[in-house]
Amino acid sequence: MSLSDEAGDAVGFPVLVAVDAPRHAGLEGALSYRSQHLLAPGTLVRVPLGRREVAGLVWEGGSDAGAGRELRDIAGACDALPPLSAAWRALADFAAAYYQRSIGELALSVLPPELRRLDSQGVADRVRRLYKRLPAPAGAAATTEPLPALTGDQAAAIDAIAAAGTQAGPGTVLLHGVTGSGKTEVYLRAAEAVLGGGKQALVLVPEINLTPQLVARFTARFAGRRIVALHSGLTPAQRLRSWLAAHLGLADLVLGTRLAVFASLPRLGLVVVDEEHDPSYKQQEGARYSARDLAVWRGHHESVPVLLGSATPSLESWRSAESGRYLRLTLPTRIGGAAWPTLRVVDMGSLPRANEGLRAAPQPGTAPGLAPQLVAALRQRVERGEQSLLFLNRRGYAPVLQCGECAWMSSCPHCSAWRVFHKQDRSLRCHHCGLGERVPRACPDCGNPDIAPVGRGTERLEEQLGELLPDARIARIDADSTRRKGSLEAQLGAVHAGEVDILVGTQMVAKGHDFRRISLVAAVNPDTSLFSSDFRAPERLFALLMQAAGRAGRDAATGLPSEMWIQTRHPNHPLYMALARHDYGAFAAAQLKEREHAGLPPYSHLALLRAEAGTAAAARDFLAAADEAARALPERAEVVIYAPVPVSVARVADVERMQMLVESASRPGLQAMLRAWLPQLDALRASRTGAEQRILRWAVDVDPLTI
Ligand code: ADP
Ligand code: ZN
Ligand code: ZN
Repeated sequence: MSLSDEAGDAVGFPVLVAVDAPRHAGLEGALSYRSQHLLAPGTLVRVPLGRREVAGLVWEGGSDAGAGRELRDIAGACDALPPLSAAWRALADFAAAYYQRSIGELALSVLPPELRRLDSQGVADRVRRLYKRLPAPAGAAATTEPLPALTGDQAAAIDAIAAAGTQAGPGTVLLHGVTGSGKTEVYLRAAEAVLGGGKQALVLVPEINLTPQLVARFTARFAGRRIVALHSGLTPAQRLRSWLAAHLGLADLVLGTRLAVFASLPRLGLVVVDEEHDPSYKQQEGARYSARDLAVWRGHHESVPVLLGSATPSLESWRSAESGRYLRLTLPTRIGGAAWPTLRVVDMGSLPRANEGLRAAPQPGTAPGLAPQLVAALRQRVERGEQSLLFLNRRGYAPVLQCGECAWMSSCPHCSAWRVFHKQDRSLRCHHCGLGERVPRACPDCGNPDIAPVGRGTERLEEQLGELLPDARIARIDADSTRRKGSLEAQLGAVHAGEVDILVGTQMVAKGHDFRRISLVAAVNPDTSLFSSDFRAPERLFALLMQAAGRAGRDAATGLPSEMWIQTRHPNHPLYMALARHDYGAFAAAQLKEREHAGLPPYSHLALLRAEAGTAAAARDFLAAADEAARALPERAEVVIYAPVPVSVARVADVERMQMLVESASRPGLQAMLRAWLPQLDALRASRTGAEQRILRWAVDVDPLTI
């Protein structure tokens, strides 16, 4: 009896639902379920998947890979939440297709985790609470300090941005201006105009805790508006609250990191991407999307202007501006006439041998690896009560320990990397797999007690400076010194309060902060990036050095003449020459020429196929088999596939990692190839058996940032 009853009940509407399941052969699109009610696309639902119940989004279009099977009923629809808009779904559809993920995997993974967890009642509760706790909009009542009169360049930029929102020309604006040239003021005015028109603004920053001033300025300027933050540092409840406020249209301004590019914004009127060149806009796992690129796509699709700001734009954006796809606006001078720091290039090769290497015995009053003239300049700054900033892109005390008797070095047993010596807690730590242990008293191989640090990290630099300048107050900011929550803020506070004379740090300190009294910035050893195998290394180095230079002499009021020091063995390198003239245009032109000759982005399009396995051979075999499988595809003609090579740190935590570069002159050609090829790789992986298969994993990175 029950059988026929159930058959009789089998009415209702079939609905396609995107669920978070990886893209296996069968789960390309969405899955069909049965619903007793018509459900609008974009509705949040709960559905059975295997033996679990999961969150899903009603989707339209796409194929149902599970067609032919018995339809299961959806478990519930969430009425409290307005459906995600067609524009939002289009963004998710595009991102999933472009970055080669299933639609469900992408769409669900960019929703707040809490939203996926809650049932319909739970969501309804959160929405109700949000409305109840909503602060009254202060509107015009919240007056702040009078706004500065715009400079001519700023006013021109604002006009052009306003026009970009209305006319058919480029809707993407590249705002190029050095630190202190007034870009943030332009963002603020552009946002103000949009908010005044009843729309929402989305402002993306690379890392929220490295940009406290920007956040503070938006908060101060829009005191009467509802601003929410969206980033991974929020608790799940906070993140859901921010997301809901944006989705329900209650928030006027969303300030967030890359994940915020997927915020649901029903009244979106402007997208700002600050420091658009910053690599942290690229997600490095799962769907490896570029938030900057998606922001541009989103703005275009929703006919909303996108404002990309940087002192050193990515070469991709620069080229788009050159070709007229983006509108370029330039803020050529620093506000208030603050001078650009004078560049001092120290030729480390010309120093007396004693100061050259870290192993040689230094002259008294000097330290290895620090030019005497730099030390003298630092001493002078300390005496004058000015601040200095030194950066070195290597944390820890020394990158490796070495035995003086035998060949022992502090390698990591699980990675193809050294374990770094951290003096503070006398540990050897692998920065790749995290393995840490106490420093051995003697060489583990020969028993020789004389094991010595080789090279230098920020800890050692801090120690050297302490010995050379005993009266200076020295602080260090890097991933080690800021591990505790709140410690970064506390240390930055000390710098701002003038309690620090010399700040030592990794590139963390070169970003974003507005240190008013710094009159000297020094790059201690920037050469390491000059000859990297990664073709983007010079671009990153130039950006970092420009940004670091921008830390010096920001405040015209103090009138401090500022200097930027570079310690190098290549004093005539064109990169440093361009830096001396702070000529980004010349640097970009030279780089673009090289890229064009070499057929590299932005003149070609890349994807990386990565494989991880227990042995290098297994990873290589998999990639070779993938290459073989590609030969049968007609789309193969559009691309060049290079031979598999180990990634730069090939073994991490006993996993061997290989990669294979796929290149095409045509973006659609590359896309078509990946679409045809990648589904075969799952089958390929499944066909491999035994121990090899157990940990064999593959992933694709479209438009990879690091090669
Ligand atoms: P950027 O974002 O390019 O680093 P900012 O917008 O932060 O530049 O401007 C640098 C400094 O100049 C800030 O202290 C800012 O308040 C101030 N400023 C910006 N625009 C003006 C203006 N038109 N008149 C006076 N001060 C300005
Ligand atoms: Zn030894
Ligand atoms: Zn390791």
